[in-house]
Amino acid sequence: MQNGKLIVLTGPSGVGKGTLVRSLLQRHPELVLSISVTTRSPRKGEVEAKSYYFVDREKFQQMVKAGELLEWAEFAGNFYGTPRPPVMEKINMGESVLLEIEVQGARQIKQTFPDALRVFILPPSIAELEKRLRGREQDSDEAIAKRLQLANKEIEEAGEFDVQVVNDDLESTLQNLASILFDG
Ligand code: ADP
Ligand code: 5GP
Repeated sequence: MQNGKLIVLTGPSGVGKGTLVRSLLQRHPELVLSISVTTRSPRKGEVEAKSYYFVDREKFQQMVKAGELLEWAEFAGNFYGTPRPPVMEKINMGESVLLEIEVQGARQIKQTFPDALRVFILPPSIAELEKRLRGREQDSDEAIAKRLQLANKEIEEAGEFDVQVVNDDLESTLQNLASILFDG
């Protein structure tokens, strides 16, 4: 049996990664989303083992030490990581696995899984990114300013990734991604 692919979607906070992943999973049921571990508290409506595996810092550190994470990073004061065994099992069974992760973690995948396809999602402009962050009504002005500062740095490094896709019109972006993931 042929192995499945590992596909990584990354990019600055607010660029639309979560939105794109939800639509990709609906349109392409053959894709499986990797469920991350995190030390952040569940938000309203989030479900253990569906949204994330919610763990304390001690457990997270144990997983790091034991080499159980394919990548991990600290983001906005919490730790996030991708459990290695479920990803490897699915890939070995021929399933394609999607990771939706922030940029530091996506960078590590080049070493831990060199065959992965790493896609960097870009905003049409910084002004549009700010509009999306504000429209989401999730962050304070201060948090938005920090995210934009980090976004500028991340965007400068987008060239390190295998493919860059601008998330301008949502439908065109989804079609563009589908052709990158399935035609080539
Ligand atoms: P991320 O997961 O990268 O942080 P989200 O998926 O939460 O980003 O998207 C941030 C905001 O931008 C959401 O309000 C979402 O509805 C909006 N958004 C996503 N993609 C587009 C797009 N192509 N055009 C306009 N708004 C978008
Ligand atoms: P949130 O707390 O909003 O769910 O996620 C915050 C950020 O963490 C998002 O940018 C999301 O893509 C990223 N993230 C989620 N899971 C992982 C993971 O396993 N590894 C890394 N590096 N980032 C993750």
